[in-house]
Amino acid sequence: MYVIETRGLTKSYGTMEEVRVHALRGVDLEVREGELLAIMGPSGSGKSTLLHILGGVEVPSSGQVLLEGVDLALLNDDARTIMRRERMGFIFQSFNLLPAFTAEENISLPLELAGVPSGEARRRSIDMLKMVGMSHRKHHIPGTLSGGEQQRVAIGRALVMEPALLLADEPTGNLDSVNGRQVTALLRGLASDHKQTIVMVTHDGEVAKQADRLIRLRDGLIEKDGMVTRERPIVKEVLPMKDVKPLIPKPVVRTCLFKRTM
Ligand code: ADP
Ligand code: MG
Repeated sequence: MYVIETRGLTKSYGTMEEVRVHALRGVDLEVREGELLAIMGPSGSGKSTLLHILGGVEVPSSGQVLLEGVDLALLNDDARTIMRRERMGFIFQSFNLLPAFTAEENISLPLELAGVPSGEARRRSIDMLKMVGMSHRKHHIPGTLSGGEQQRVAIGRALVMEPALLLADEPTGNLDSVNGRQVTALLRGLASDHKQTIVMVTHDGEVAKQADRLIRLRDGLIEKDGMVTRERPIVKEVLPMKDVKPLIPKPVVRTCLFKRTM
């Protein structure tokens, strides 16, 4: 069984024929467990639309999306919301972290929302910080972290519910080349070492080279679909793991506020 599969997926925007945009025109796609799939294509070719439909954020005009064999169209709104929260992880070009919360709090947020007891949420958040190489920055708020570090925290938040699929829209789009390489290496490692299935849109050929498979979209159709041949070994950069003293101690007040606003 595939983690995610689409059959004859189409998506059109607009009702009047003259202004109708056919963003997807029949996409058949199968993604295996642990596969790192890169999607490239010119602007407007349907990449974000495809990602949104895979994630259940948008519904297709026709065709099917099967997540772990379940047809998303057969789910009611509540079930689709739960599926999106628990089986999907999203990361974006702009990291979308909550600015007043620490790295650890940002990561534990989805768990708290899902009603996981605080002790367990904290333990899982700490494990996740370790997995994304951010243990030494757990008490830092996003504004005190580099772009690459923020994206690593965002990846931790996206994965803390152990989703079947991680969807990434230009995850390195706002990063310089060093940070971009670290984030790419992290995604590569998550797929290889933890069997995390990842679908990522990228404009960067260097990022795409680290994927297992590359799809090219053009005008809403898959133009090319093939395995990536690696000329070079997989990038594996050492992420800083040592525990340094946090610059900003965790303020108790903010933790209370965090709980109350939930
Ligand atoms: P990409 O991510 O590859 O740049 P998109 O999936 O964002 O492309 O868009 C594909 C096409 O669909 C574009 O022509 C875009 O203008 C159109 N489109 C995307 N979203 C909407 C929307 N909400 N309403 C109308 N047209 C849209
Ligand atoms: Mg896009």
